[in-house]
Amino acid sequence: MIPYGRQDITQDDLDAVARVLTSDFITQGPEISGFEADFATATGAPHALTASSATAALHMAYLALGLGVGDRMWTVPNTFVATANAGLYCGAAVDFVDIDPQTYNMSVGALRTKLVDAAAQGTLPKIVTPVHFAGQSCDMAAIHALAQEYGFRIVEDASHAVGGDHESTPVGACIYSDIAVFSFHPVKIITTAEGGMATTRDPELARKMGLLRSHGITREPNEMTHAPDGPWYYQQVSLGFNYRMTDIQAVLGRSQLTRLRGYIDARHAVRERYDSALSNLPVTLPFQPAYQRSALHLYPVMVNADSPVDRATAFRELRERGVGVNVLYIPVHTQPVYRDLGFKSGDYPAAEDYYARVFVLPMYAKLTVDDQDKVITAMQSVFG
Ligand SMILES: *Cc1c(COP(=O)(O)O)cnc(C)c1O
Repeated sequence: MIPYGRQDITQDDLDAVARVLTSDFITQGPEISGFEADFATATGAPHALTASSATAALHMAYLALGLGVGDRMWTVPNTFVATANAGLYCGAAVDFVDIDPQTYNMSVGALRTKLVDAAAQGTLPKIVTPVHFAGQSCDMAAIHALAQEYGFRIVEDASHAVGGDHESTPVGACIYSDIAVFSFHPVKIITTAEGGMATTRDPELARKMGLLRSHGITREPNEMTHAPDGPWYYQQVSLGFNYRMTDIQAVLGRSQLTRLRGYIDARHAVRERYDSALSNLPVTLPFQPAYQRSALHLYPVMVNADSPVDRATAFRELRERGVGVNVLYIPVHTQPVYRDLGFKSGDYPAAEDYYARVFVLPMYAKLTVDDQDKVITAMQSVFG
């Protein structure tokens, strides 16, 4: 089966990991700050903080922005459950904004309408979290303009988008947001097995996330309530977590990051071959807005409403032909946990219509031309 996503581990990666494993520090050592410095350089954000996962980074980001009981956090239904769950961890009320049927990202029009209603009812959100679905940036300038008008903060869920550009600036530079969060799960663009990163331009947010990541413990004398008892002294000044990445993961991330540009270019080469080979089938191929260059985490294909073959049939027949298609995302508001909070089918028609007709094709940097040809042939025989 040709998978829909796959990591690329090289001899350089193995050597780097082996070097750390036999060094003095396998966690809380120098590779953490090294990876953070490299990532800050790659994205252009002054602050980058590693985390044990993107989920942990989202939780730290929301808490650092003060999200708590009585607050509201909005995101899209077309995302992994973690984006919304991290809001529930904070005790906040989570709500959703429907997607744009062309980009599958947060609809700026739907966001504006919902903000107008919320302003009238006194129910404005504290945080809005746009998700750069499939690696394609949301319309951040427009969302930022709404943030200025309605006073909410922005966390970008950039789990799919490391290596992508927005208005010719790397995603993660946080030009239009407070914090951006990345995932290094193996199906994403670069991997640390499990792992995540948060970037920000705001030193105070970076400081708060740093405390949250490690139990709320500080070793900075000027953050303590009294002078240190001695050089061994630390203080716990807030309630934090253990959301740390290990040095084993960090060195793998650093090694992977050196290949990021090449990975994105390779993904675009795969996209171009799909775009031209599949254009005459009864499916809708990914739209690429001009203001961004996608990191191409995914290649979603929507089965057209008038296609003679429906999605379930296409999915089954492609799997039978060895093509590991997948379906992302089941709208979060239709999950039992969110139904229990009052959401129901029909609440977000664009996300639900997308989910009813989509599947994703294999898309990764090391997808060979031979394997891609097998995918294309299978697509042509299923839909042709
Ligand atoms: C993968 C993913 C996450 C969670 O990432 P982890 O590193 O597995 O915690 C969150 N949001 C989106 C959009 C994702 O794709």
